[in-house]
Amino acid sequence: MRCPFLREAHVQSCQASPIRKQIVRTGSATDERCATAAWHECSVVRELSEEHPSASSCPFRMESLAQYCSAAPVMKLIPWSDQAFSRCGSEAHRYCDLYLALAKTSAPAAAPEEAPPRSDDADGIPVPQWLWFAPGHTWLSVASDGVCHIGVDAFLARTLGGIDRVQFVTTKGLERPAAVLTVRDVDVTVSFPNPVFITAVNGALRADPARLARDPYGLGWLFEGIVRDRSAVPNGTPRITDGLLRGEAATAWMRRETLRLRALAEDAAERISGVRLAADGGLPEPALVRTLPHAEALRLSHLLLSPPPDEERYS
Ligand code: SF4
Repeated sequence: MRCPFLREAHVQSCQASPIRKQIVRTGSATDERCATAAWHECSVVRELSEEHPSASSCPFRMESLAQYCSAAPVMKLIPWSDQAFSRCGSEAHRYCDLYLALAKTSAPAAAPEEAPPRSDDADGIPVPQWLWFAPGHTWLSVASDGVCHIGVDAFLARTLGGIDRVQFVTTKGLERPAAVLTVRDVDVTVSFPNPVFITAVNGALRADPARLARDPYGLGWLFEGIVRDRSAVPNGTPRITDGLLRGEAATAWMRRETLRLRALAEDAAERISGVRLAADGGLPEPALVRTLPHAEALRLSHLLLSPPPDEERYS
């Protein structure tokens, strides 16, 4: 499905002009000099010669089809032939900044053939039911046309708090997507467990890394990729959703992760102050990693991203 803000327009340009300018055709062609016998009066064309001049319209007039974003403040025409390279014409539009702002959603809608978008809540952590979750706290969204997006989940984003820097370890090609998130003086490497054909990274995070924690399932996405054939699994290559959880299984896993975080925070508090936190069962305060001493912040983020053994993870 293409973006609902994408529009098409017939444009014309003059091949004889030194400056190529595309003009959107409004009314009928007969209203315009270039498309009528009046083209002979044009000063540009008088200086040129054409072997097979047409009486009814200027031979230097070129017509084509272009697309533009009706949501953008400035109209930028993109030739129709480039549409295969444009995110606007594919499901990738669901992660466009403009689309997310105008569609007034903090997270992209599910693919049309899937159930209506629903998001569960695991002890205060949103768990969108259309996303796949990996044990290392990354999420995956796969659209019907194979376009996929990967990011970090709200649990990790909340625990890290404001992120100061995002560096992409992998940027293109068939890779296990990985990025380094820097919080204060702590580098946390997040990686998606299965190989994905990466086509783009979210470059906006370099200038505004805080958007990752602000909107982890939307504007804070990390990688864009393509799954060419989801049924094909080349020798030894894991399927993109292998080992991931979705729906109720993901919500139950997230609840266990909140308990695990609570226990890790209690251990850290005891090591730092010798006092154990009251076991009130709630989630620790947001931005826990940012508030801990360096060694404890490193330890906690390492343990959080090291999934517990399978029997514990799926029990
Ligand atoms: S730029 Fe964004 S909002 Fe505009 S048409 Fe493309 S995907 Fe849609």
